[in-house]
Amino acid sequence: MPFCPQCRSEFRPGFDRCSDCGVALVDTLPPERHPEPHYELLMATADPDLLPLVLSALRAADIPYVADGGEAASLLPLGPGAGTSHGGVAVEILVPADRLAEAEALIEAGVEVTDELPPELREED
Ligand SMILES: [Zn+2]
Repeated sequence: MPFCPQCRSEFRPGFDRCSDCGVALVDTLPPERHPEPHYELLMATADPDLLPLVLSALRAADIPYVADGGEAASLLPLGPGAGTSHGGVAVEILVPADRLAEAEALIEAGVEVTDELPPELREED
């Protein structure tokens, strides 16, 4: 059954062009584009040191995120030390729902130990 790839109308066999769009019909419609993923709250933090660590961990794992601190925090360049401008303001970090478990595991496994010293630099007990 021919379909218009533009308006997704279905046509009877024999038509080869959409009467509305003027585009060539196709036998099967391409899959619809996925809607924006549903974002879930990963964590909220007012810790200016923790935030960049979490975001860089998410970036390293290729997990998209939204950092919502009220003043377009996600648009700020978050290089080393950049999080300090958010002192005292809780920033909510959201990730796609289907990546939430992955992101949580990442935070638990990685963020706290990011600044751990290599064994040779640790102080003796
Ligand atoms: Zn059409």
